[in-house]
Amino acid sequence: MLDYVGLEADLTEEERMVRDTARDFVEDKFKPIVGDHWIEGTFPTELIGEMGELGFYGPNLDGYGLPDLSETAYGVLMQELEAGDSGLRSMASVQGSLVMYPIHTYGSEAQKDTWLEAMGTGEKIGCFGLTEPNHGSNPSAMETHAEADDEGYVLNGTKTWITNAPIADVALVWARDRSDPDEPVRGFLVETDRDGVRTPKIEEKLSLRASITGQIELSNVYVPEANVLPDVQGMKGPLSCLTQARFGISWGAIGAARDCFETAREYATDREQFGKPIGGYQLQQEKLAEMATQITTAQLLSYRLTELKERGEMRPEQVSMAKRNNVRMARDQSRVAREMLGGNGITADYSPMRHMANLETVYTYEGTHDIHSLILGHDLTGIPAFE
Ligand SMILES: Cc1cc2nc3c(=O)[nH]c(=O)nc-3n(C[C@H](O)[C@H](O)[C@H](O)COP(=O)(O)OP(=O)(O)OC[C@H]3O[C@@H](n4cnc5c(N)ncnc54)[C@H](O)[C@@H]3O)c2cc1C
Repeated sequence: MLDYVGLEADLTEEERMVRDTARDFVEDKFKPIVGDHWIEGTFPTELIGEMGELGFYGPNLDGYGLPDLSETAYGVLMQELEAGDSGLRSMASVQGSLVMYPIHTYGSEAQKDTWLEAMGTGEKIGCFGLTEPNHGSNPSAMETHAEADDEGYVLNGTKTWITNAPIADVALVWARDRSDPDEPVRGFLVETDRDGVRTPKIEEKLSLRASITGQIELSNVYVPEANVLPDVQGMKGPLSCLTQARFGISWGAIGAARDCFETAREYATDREQFGKPIGGYQLQQEKLAEMATQITTAQLLSYRLTELKERGEMRPEQVSMAKRNNVRMARDQSRVAREMLGGNGITADYSPMRHMANLETVYTYEGTHDIHSLILGHDLTGIPAFE
């Protein structure tokens, strides 16, 4: 596997074990079936429990039977999972960074006891409801709201484009609390079997097909006060979760690009035209050289970001830079790999076109490429250009 400047030599034994476990799982269990799932528009739900047993959910969290691994281990895991498919990494990202992380960081002891261990093993599945039909890049304009009622709240609204919603046991729904004059955004843990909750699947996506995406429709849904995350209010809640998940995406995208590179490299050395392997022609070598260089520079950025995260010094704007750069890199390089495979490159027998289609989602979710440009622009000039 491409590791051109030997970054993996510095991994600890534990981090290497995480890498190898995930790599073997992807090679043996996931890759043989992903093409069919992608074409059918399904996720191999039978693997969810095994992924939990292998420690793929919330591995950088502690307590509640969770692994408490380093941020590097978490990043390397995301890289290996996305080398399989962005849908596989999305499953683990949402579960770990977008649902378990906020419960771990902002939840009550009772919420932690109820959900963290069960989600860590994959026995329970979570989803993260922020985006709405009319509010994507600007979630602070959300319409979903909660009104205090009796000993709890009544929720109304619709969330859309929600990964795992149709198979989730619990949805972390971000809603405005209209009982408070300031109408702060708060996080509500909504069990999906409550009256008034519907989670229909979004059908016929042309990207991230091996991932289950849906809506969360809330019609007068009652939740007790005990289901509200007690320790966070305002947009800091959802945005801090997104920082965690974007960190993982910056690593994951490298995995998708690496898989495209390895597929193209192998193809180029096997496939002969005009009497020799196409990898023997300068035009194809230039493509491989550029791909390897782009992947390596993305890896360097993510390794440095991880060092900063370990030290508690990572800023959200730095995560924006890594998400923006690494996903664009993967999106561009997947197309080059597809091109190198000629006609075979447009089939599901090879990964590059599947990755290429998936990366359109990764480029868009968790802050679009444009929105990360604006975040960086704001940070670099001090002048916000969002409105
Ligand atoms: C498969 C999939 C899974 C997803 N999973 C989840 C999930 O689990 N949970 C969740 O909450 N959300 C999820 N999302 C939603 C995702 O985060 C949003 O799609 C994303 O934030 C963009 O919002 P939007 O689609 O409404 O696009 P819009 O915000 O309408 O943007 C449309 C275009 O306008 C551009 N734009 C927007 N504002 C500006 C501006 N100020 N200046 C310049 N350009 C601008 C954008 O960059 C984009 O190109 C998922 C999306 C997909 C596709």
